[in-house]
Amino acid sequence: MDKAKRKAIIAGNWKMNKTPKEATALLKAIAPLVADADCEVIACVPYVDLAAAIEATAGTNIKIGAENCHWAESGAFTGEISTGMLKEVGVEYVVLGHSERRQYFGETDETVNKRTKAALAAGLKPIVCVGELLWERECNITEEVIARQIKLDLWDVTEEELKNVVIAYEPVWAIGTGKTATSDQAEEVCAFIRAQLAKLYNQDAADAVTIQYGGSMNDGNADELLSKVNVDGGLIGGASLVAEKFAAIVKAASK
Ligand code: PEP
Repeated sequence: MDKAKRKAIIAGNWKMNKTPKEATALLKAIAPLVADADCEVIACVPYVDLAAAIEATAGTNIKIGAENCHWAESGAFTGEISTGMLKEVGVEYVVLGHSERRQYFGETDETVNKRTKAALAAGLKPIVCVGELLWERECNITEEVIARQIKLDLWDVTEEELKNVVIAYEPVWAIGTGKTATSDQAEEVCAFIRAQLAKLYNQDAADAVTIQYGGSMNDGNADELLSKVNVDGGLIGGASLVAEKFAAIVKAASK
């Protein structure tokens, strides 16, 4: 399957930015700029912004995602949000295993896997983030790290469920640092991820998965990164908070 047949997806990851009112204003600014996009456009926003974001994007081509979810349906998990809660407000996507969750909040491949399974069971589409630390790249173990994450994070995910999974390759050293992976580095790892998926599932299943690159992608480098055959979209942090920059990336993915 060639790249043109895969769904290109540009997703903003707003992290801990924007109040509900600010979220509404930003989405209202983005909506007309991406109205004719030839790719999927998603904004993953803080939990308290979800209702406002869904209202602000009603009738547009922007889909709304959350930035995490818990694996239990309910219970004594103070501060957590269930998949059922997300579904009820109209969320379609959920970012899981972001490196900031792994780094600051103790997420492990085991919890990423539990969240991924729960999200899929609830009918949400997980954007599962994987990526190596700078130290791991310098030690030449990028492929080992990525292979392990892919295997563990997708443990027990069926081929049917895989159709609803998006993978985001996010080298940790490139997130929020202004240091982008070169397009060749991004392509190399995204192709490696696809090869791992082919081993775990089969080539057809692997060929159908959207694999994004994330890490300081912006309006200046998106064209080059997205021109690569295995880079099917982007997970965008900083640049997703500026309507014109985010729209320019969506335009690059629509070519
Ligand atoms: C991210 O948060 O997933 C990300 C890629 O951030 P940035 O684009 O700011 O590097």
